[in-house]
Amino acid sequence: MDPTLAPSSPSAAKAGPAPSPEDAALAAVLIKNGVLTGDQVEEARRYAEEHRRDFKQAILEMNLISPERLNQLAFERLRALAQPEAPAPTSTPASPAETKTMLVLPDRDQIQRDIRKELQDLTQTVPVPELIGQILERAIDCRATDIHFDSLDNGLRVRYRIDGQLQDILFIESSVAAAALSRVKVMSNLNIVERRHSQDGRITIMYNGKPRDLRVATFPTIYGEKIVIRIHEVLTDVVGFHHLGMNKSQAEALDRLIVQPYGAVLVAGPVGAGKTSTLYNCLERINSPLRNVMTIEDPIEHRMPGVNQTQVGSGPGDMSFSEGLRAMLRQDPDIVMIGEIRDEETARIGIRAALTGVLVFSTLHGSDAPSTISNLYNFGIPGYQLSSSLLAIVSQRLVRKICPNCRVCFTPDEKLLLSLELDPDEHQGAELFRGTGCPACFQTGYIGRTGVFEIMMIGEELRDLIFQQIPRDVLRRVAVDLGMRTLKQSAVDKILEGVTTVEEVYRVVSF
Ligand SMILES: [Zn+2]
Repeated sequence: MDPTLAPSSPSAAKAGPAPSPEDAALAAVLIKNGVLTGDQVEEARRYAEEHRRDFKQAILEMNLISPERLNQLAFERLRALAQPEAPAPTSTPASPAETKTMLVLPDRDQIQRDIRKELQDLTQTVPVPELIGQILERAIDCRATDIHFDSLDNGLRVRYRIDGQLQDILFIESSVAAAALSRVKVMSNLNIVERRHSQDGRITIMYNGKPRDLRVATFPTIYGEKIVIRIHEVLTDVVGFHHLGMNKSQAEALDRLIVQPYGAVLVAGPVGAGKTSTLYNCLERINSPLRNVMTIEDPIEHRMPGVNQTQVGSGPGDMSFSEGLRAMLRQDPDIVMIGEIRDEETARIGIRAALTGVLVFSTLHGSDAPSTISNLYNFGIPGYQLSSSLLAIVSQRLVRKICPNCRVCFTPDEKLLLSLELDPDEHQGAELFRGTGCPACFQTGYIGRTGVFEIMMIGEELRDLIFQQIPRDVLRRVAVDLGMRTLKQSAVDKILEGVTTVEEVYRVVSF
């Protein structure tokens, strides 16, 4: 019915640019995989038209999908095209009616992949090496960050950590359990007869044509060995800060900051808040052969071509952060990334570098931007040094995103709105969302995560206050008066946008 949906009907030309067959095929795959709803596809189409983007750019800019997931789906689309029974979207020009059906949200039960069932079936049909290969591959398919193999008294339990939470995935019978554990150890070049001491190893597998490094650690328990495989996230492209979850003005602010010649940009938040991703994004955007970019990290989570990355550690014989940093500053750096400021000495050297012509990026523990400044005072950094070196403090958290397959809306009552510090009159009739749980999201109601940010830009006014070591409450009030969107406000924005739920925001931000 909508003429813009017909890729090759003559009337489409009048109604604006028609989606290319390529875009239509991609849209169909996205819907089929439950990544986008039909409405979201339409919305992206409109956005693409308005902003003169292609469809792919549009969905990336609208933050509907991560670039990594998009690449993966593009690969699945190719695979689907190779199968004759699949609807071939790029073949003969489809009639408007056919194209329309392709874009309508298909039956929910058909689009959801039940990875648990797929794997459980495999335990009966394929040999152990193939099974382990599938367990690794499907973990990456569903964005797991860790795979746990737990030895129990009656077999082996396999769990994935997805979006920060462990999910029970598979049970392997005790007759196969030992072979499965041995297979993992062989793949990671570990000693398979050593079962009483822990060992560390590494597996490199090919995934979508690219090598992926997995770290393997074994641990002896009373029922046998436990193995944890850590999958590092791969940052495939320079994605832009809005993909991390920043709002437009936050992303623009950070874009302006990272081109400064010197100073310090610090990212604060608890472990697992996505701080490192933010730093890597900063570096990816400013990395160029004209600048000497150096990092010290523990561990190196992502390799960046053209960047001098160094691993430091806390073990005996390892180079420490402060030692590494001192040595690095003799290497004529333009940009330095310090994985984490953990001690006074590192803080002092880092801030001094930022004062003397180096652009410094680092992470710090701190619940929000103003309290991070107090932490730096506590590290013995005087106010006058901080005030002239700090460019900004970014504070962040990760929240889970609502699963698009089982998303439902509800009308919040006045009490709920008030608890979110929203004006009930202003938000009368507002609709909020939550996921009810389905196989695609392992019944959690969530798929994927996004960042929530607070960016305290250090301008003239704050500089004066930091110089005088004004208490953080005052600092916070002034920053808010100057327009800083707090973590809490940014999180509530995400609820109102339908990205996440009230519960999820309560979990990560204190009210
Ligand atoms: Zn779901």
